[in-house]
Amino acid sequence: MTLALTKTAIEMKTKTKIDPRAIEMCVRCGTCRSVCPAFEVLGWESRNTRGRIMVAKALREGLAPDSDVLDSLNTCTTCGICAAKCPAGANPPVIVQEARRSLVAKGVMTEAQAGLSGKVNASGNTFGEKAERLGWLSDAEVAGLKERADRVYFVGCLDSYRYPEVAKKTFNLLKRFDVTLLPDEVCCGSPLIRTGSEARGLVDRNLEQIKRIGAKTVITGCAGCYSTLKKDYPPDFKVLSVPEFLAEHISELDLKPLEISVTYHDPCHLGRHNGIFDPPREVIKSISDLVEMRASRENARCCGGGGGVRAGYPDLSLKIAKRRLLDVPSGVDAIVSCCPLCIRNLRDAGSEIEVVDLVDLVGRAIRSP
Ligand code: SF4
Ligand code: SF4
Repeated sequence: MTLALTKTAIEMKTKTKIDPRAIEMCVRCGTCRSVCPAFEVLGWESRNTRGRIMVAKALREGLAPDSDVLDSLNTCTTCGICAAKCPAGANPPVIVQEARRSLVAKGVMTEAQAGLSGKVNASGNTFGEKAERLGWLSDAEVAGLKERADRVYFVGCLDSYRYPEVAKKTFNLLKRFDVTLLPDEVCCGSPLIRTGSEARGLVDRNLEQIKRIGAKTVITGCAGCYSTLKKDYPPDFKVLSVPEFLAEHISELDLKPLEISVTYHDPCHLGRHNGIFDPPREVIKSISDLVEMRASRENARCCGGGGGVRAGYPDLSLKIAKRRLLDVPSGVDAIVSCCPLCIRNLRDAGSEIEVVDLVDLVGRAIRSP
């Protein structure tokens, strides 16, 4: 993969700041080799968890970063299955993110990292879109948004610009429960934080609006936004995922059973990273049959989209998604998920079965929309 190393950066021998205790937790047993989705596709030691930790260690000791180092670190989707399986308690995605952050702070990054950061900072979204973020609402609906509310729906870049019909369906459901929108929402910062860049400006813009509205709860339908709002924003408000909110209010939604069976793909940043396994399943089971994927819950395999991999290494990203599709049980009518990035990657990988958001499934079951 191409990189944007300056000559100064290549010559720079300044040690990279990564917590040595985190690195030393890895006893190099190699358990993670059997689960890393990037390694499954790429097959090199430097592209698996243990290799990435050794790269981070070498950077600490003064290794000059080159394109191979950047590819090693940046092909990690931050899926976290290595951390879940590690017998020594190491947390490799945290080490990877820290290594990326340390290098980016010195101006060492791939062209994809630099491009993503430039685009998000210039436009406030991951696509560099200039269109209105609330373009999926009419002018009258925008004008009618409540200026103060206890709850806010944080839409995210993907649903705002690529799946506006999902944003609309989600908001229509949430509006029944006194939920409003940020008038000037920007990217939550996840793509920047995961790829090592600063997101302070974006975080502050969103925070200021959440405070002005007086919201005590922020609800989001994107796994990446959820994890970021929960872990990278100050704990001034409660963060709920859409499946959690729907599960809490299922009895108030007047749903009819659908005569279909579906499977559920756990987004890494909702499931493994935040323990949200049951709420989407409760919602699904209330309206349809659920058949689990071959690997699910803590063992769910990554869709390949996260950690900047879709943007930086699209071929790898799609190959990981194709492997995830092999886990789909036969005979189901749909793959349901709760993250637009997972849904997009699984669709782009050529799923023969439709891949839908949980909100789409609920929308089909509502008696009185
Ligand atoms: S990260 Fe954990 S599982 Fe992987 S080699 Fe190190 S100790 Fe073993
Ligand atoms: S977080 Fe996922 S992609 Fe990254 S090293 Fe661990 S298993 Fe591999």
